[in-house]
Amino acid sequence: MVGNRQPEVNIGLVGHVDHGKTTLVQALSGSWTDQHSEEMKRGISIRLGYADATFRHCEGLEEPECYTVEEECPDGSESEPLRTVSFVDAPGHETLMATMLSGASLMDGAVLVVSANEPVPQPQTEEHLMALDIIGIENIVIAQNKVDLVDPETARNNYEQIKEFVEGTVAEDAPIVPVSAGQEVNLDLLIQAIEEEIPTPDRDPDADPRMHVARSFDINKPGTTAKDLAGGVLGGSLVQGELEVGDDIEIRPGREVEEGGQSEYVPIETTIRSLQAGGEAADTVTPGGLLGVGTGLDPSLTKGDALAGRMAGPPGTLPPTWNEFTMDVDLLERVVGAESGETVDEISTGEPLMMTVGTATTVGSVTSARSGECEVRLKRPVAADPGTKIAINRRIGARWRLIGLGTLTD
Ligand code: GDP
Ligand code: MG
Repeated sequence: MVGNRQPEVNIGLVGHVDHGKTTLVQALSGSWTDQHSEEMKRGISIRLGYADATFRHCEGLEEPECYTVEEECPDGSESEPLRTVSFVDAPGHETLMATMLSGASLMDGAVLVVSANEPVPQPQTEEHLMALDIIGIENIVIAQNKVDLVDPETARNNYEQIKEFVEGTVAEDAPIVPVSAGQEVNLDLLIQAIEEEIPTPDRDPDADPRMHVARSFDINKPGTTAKDLAGGVLGGSLVQGELEVGDDIEIRPGREVEEGGQSEYVPIETTIRSLQAGGEAADTVTPGGLLGVGTGLDPSLTKGDALAGRMAGPPGTLPPTWNEFTMDVDLLERVVGAESGETVDEISTGEPLMMTVGTATTVGSVTSARSGECEVRLKRPVAADPGTKIAINRRIGARWRLIGLGTLTD
């Protein structure tokens, strides 16, 4: 990766709406996001809310002052890059848990943004923390944001509320860093906390590459002639291995084909024609950050996220496709994020559930419910390994609510 600072770790930005997630990402990523090509900008980076940031170090300065995202140090010397991280920030209008949960399967850690000028917890603060807990994201930093808006006593009070709120959760020991994303205060402290708490995971470069496809699209302008047509593009993240231009890949569950009134999904095979990582063209890509994979597929197959939620990897290496499965079920005690905090009833046979399996979101109906276990038949199949964690959502009132964790058994 000489000369290319491909992001090596994905960090989710979670928390209640308007608490400053996007502002924080902007403050940390600076100009780097501008280097995305127009296609990536238009196509996926904005929609998925990925933004890359290179954390840098200024020699001769103490911690935390030595941490920066600026290329120039206060003394005019050039800062040294430490690592490039990729922030996954749910677009503002997408406060849906489904989006957050499917992003969560790609997160190596998370920054929970909590506004200092509101009581803790706000509904999504609680909901998102519960989701991190359920999916098992343990490397967490809490950014207590907007400290510029409150007096020191309010800030201290709010800090105590945060402490109390995270007690007994996966974020219990997470550092709480007071910041102002808007005024760019204490960003060095926050970078230090992220460097310490959210390490780049150990990756096996020899593992079979496996990509979670989060988006797919057609990058051709309307009216492009057939001979100039670019192949379909997949956007997402590699969770293991390396991909190289020229590699053959399989995509599962693939595409829906109808035959004699029956619909089934068939895997798709294609060849990688181009790769983009960290906003630049690359010959090979490694896990971390948002990838764009140009394929030889007919762009009508990839248009409009048609392949979102799929897996891609070398032919024959992908996990099985499930039209129905059995999962072990671990229900929450009460519904999180709902004002009423009602208790969670047992799952019953016949009820519809929305499940997030990796980056795939699928609706299924329960064909058999037993204590601690249930069988579901899916509207759309998913590819997944046994043991995969599943976020289970039930329709309560007008929306889907997280009610528990499933583990795919068979
Ligand atoms: P998001 O919904 O969590 O992504 O929140 P945004 O980043 O969109 O921020 C919501 C609003 O809060 C915007 O008007 C921001 O300008 C403002 N904001 C964000 N961070 C700060 C901060 O540190 N201080 C102040 N005063 N305002 C902030
Ligand atoms: Mg936002």
